[in-house]
Amino acid sequence: MLSPAREPGSTRHQTCPACRHGLAIDLLSIRRAPVLVCSVFPDADAARATPGGEIELVACQACGFLYNRVFDLAMALAGAGYESTQSASATFNAFADGLAKDWIARHDLAGKTVIEVGCGQSAFMLALLANGVGHMHGIDPLAAMSDIPADYADRVSIDASDFHARHVDYQAAALVCRHSIEHIPDVAAFMTLCSAWSKANGNAPVLFEAPAAERIVHDGAFWDLFYEHCNYFTVAALATAFEQAGMRVTQRRLEYGEQYIIMDACHDADATVISDAAAQAAWLSACLNFGSRASAAVSACQRRMRDYAAAPGGLAIWQGASKTVGLLTAVGDALPIRCCIDQNTRRHGWFIPPSGLQILPPAALAQMQPAHVVLMNAVYLREVREQLDAMGCTATQLHAIDDVIAA
Ligand SMILES: [Zn+2]
Repeated sequence: MLSPAREPGSTRHQTCPACRHGLAIDLLSIRRAPVLVCSVFPDADAARATPGGEIELVACQACGFLYNRVFDLAMALAGAGYESTQSASATFNAFADGLAKDWIARHDLAGKTVIEVGCGQSAFMLALLANGVGHMHGIDPLAAMSDIPADYADRVSIDASDFHARHVDYQAAALVCRHSIEHIPDVAAFMTLCSAWSKANGNAPVLFEAPAAERIVHDGAFWDLFYEHCNYFTVAALATAFEQAGMRVTQRRLEYGEQYIIMDACHDADATVISDAAAQAAWLSACLNFGSRASAAVSACQRRMRDYAAAPGGLAIWQGASKTVGLLTAVGDALPIRCCIDQNTRRHGWFIPPSGLQILPPAALAQMQPAHVVLMNAVYLREVREQLDAMGCTATQLHAIDDVIAA
C-alpha cells in the first residue's frame, strides 16, 4: 500500500497508469467488491457490513496492462493495518526462501545492504538476512521494528513511509519490491522512482515479484480480482513499464504455478521499449473473452458448491483470506458453507467479508468431517491432502478451485 502520489479520492483514469495511452477495452465490472479483502472481523455481522467499492477492469490497448479505471485509493487505504501474511504455509515459505537465495546468488548480495520497498511485516527481509544479506532497509508505512526478532535487530533499519524521491539516494546493492506494484495507482511515477534509484546506485538491480494476470485471464480466475489490486500485470506489460521508465529487463519468468511474475531490471541509459505486436494482439483477444469466461466460471461454481454443501458433512473452504473473499463476492454468500480453514493462527476465530464465514484452524475438520473441501490454491493440493488424511478426514473429497469451475 504505497504510492509516490498518495492522493485520496477516486482516480478515474483517463489514460493508462503504466504507459499513458488513452484507449482501453472494458473487461468486467464488479459493483460491490469488499474494500478490505484481507481484513478479518470479530463477528459475522461486522464482516458482512464491510463497505464495497467498484471495479471497472479495463485493458490498455497499447501495453496490455489491466487496471481498475475507477479505483479509489482512500477506500483501499481504509484497510491499512490488515493481516495479510502468507508466511504460515510451508510451500510459500519454501518459495520465498528459494527466491531470496536466487536473487542473492545472481546479484552477489551476500554481506551487502538491500532495500525492500513494501516490506510489510518483514518476513522476506528476514529470509534475505538468513541467507546472507548483510543489512536490510525496509520502506513501508506498515513496517515496524517490533516485527523484527531481537537477533536480527542490529541488521535492520525501517522507514515507516511510502517510497519517495528522498529514498533515491539511499545507498544499497539492490532494491526488492514484492507484491506491492499491484496496489499503486500511478505505476509510471513509481517505476520512474525505481529507475532513478538504480541510476543513483550505479545501475543496481531492481527486483520485482507481482501477481501474474495471464493465469487470471486465461483461466477465468475471477476470485483473484480484488479491490485493493488496482493493477494486474502480464510479463509483457510489466517489462514495458520498466522499459518506459528507462530500465532494461535482465530476467523475467513465471513462478509458483505461473501465478507470480519474477522480474529483474536495472537502469540503462540505452533502454528501449521492446514490443511484440502479434503477442499483444493475442493477449487483447484473450482479454476480450475474459468477461464471458468469468461469468461461466461463476455459474459452474454456484452449481457445484450448492451440491457440495448439500452433502452430509457439508462443505468447507480451505483458505480464509483474499481468494475466498473474491470467490464468495462473485458467487454470492447464500450457500450454507460451514467455515473456512486457514493455517495462519493469527486469523483463527475471526470472520471474513462479505460472507461472515468464520476462520478455523485445520484441526477443526477432524470433528467436522466435511464431505467436501474446496481448496483455493492448487499449489497446496498435496500439502492439504496429507493434512486431511493425517487428521482422519480420509473420506473428505478435496477439490482445487480450478477443477470446480471446469464445467
Ligand atoms: Zn498501457
